Amino acid sequence: MGGQPIKAILTDIEGTTSSIDFVHETLFPYARARIRDWLRANAHQDEVHIQLDAVEQLVGCDLSLAEAADVLEQWIDEDRKATPLKALQGMIWAEGYAQGELQGHVYPDTPAALHRWHGDGLALYVYSSGSVTAQKLIFGHTAHGDLTPLFTDYFDTRVGGKREVASYRAIVEAVGCAPEEILFLSDVGAELDAARDAGLQTCQVVRDGKTQAAPGHRQVATLAEIKL
Ligand SMILES: [Mg+2]
Repeated sequence: MGGQPIKAILTDIEGTTSSIDFVHETLFPYARARIRDWLRANAHQDEVHIQLDAVEQLVGCDLSLAEAADVLEQWIDEDRKATPLKALQGMIWAEGYAQGELQGHVYPDTPAALHRWHGDGLALYVYSSGSVTAQKLIFGHTAHGDLTPLFTDYFDTRVGGKREVASYRAIVEAVGCAPEEILFLSDVGAELDAARDAGLQTCQVVRDGKTQAAPGHRQVATLAEIKL
């Protein structure tokens, strides 16, 4: 990389450590198929009740359980990033992972790279638009075991959008390094641009032909190619 030694790595998940298809073709359909029955079985739990109240608040009226399920299914179909939907999906996924029906996808080069960087004393962080709960589930249940002990902390959109410079400034503050000591990994050019504008070093991970090249950023095909 550049002149400054890297002390921390901040990584995106979808398209970087893990396949985009895993989220869209496995996780979302898994929750979509189960949410109606799952609500029926779990609506009495306080944590579920709180989220159903939040759904009613967003919709602006009282909902029966069936109506709430209608709304949530529609939100999944529209890819709405509503907070109560994310929370309920997280609970359904947690059960799926615990039962071994779901396994968090990581590319084969991901665990080796994370272990190598962690062993070299780098602090590892995640920044993804999926909730921190969902991030921990993915890395906690991979075919290569539980990778969560390798990470120092996790950030989601509560810190701000992934294409906003301010988000990366807030993350730099939380990490406690100089921005140029942090390397940000992502497949998306606009995210890399925002991170660079906040002073971070950047590297684009181009996993397949669908990824749009991000001019001005270093590119690798796998995490194994990243030399610090
Ligand atoms: Mg991505």
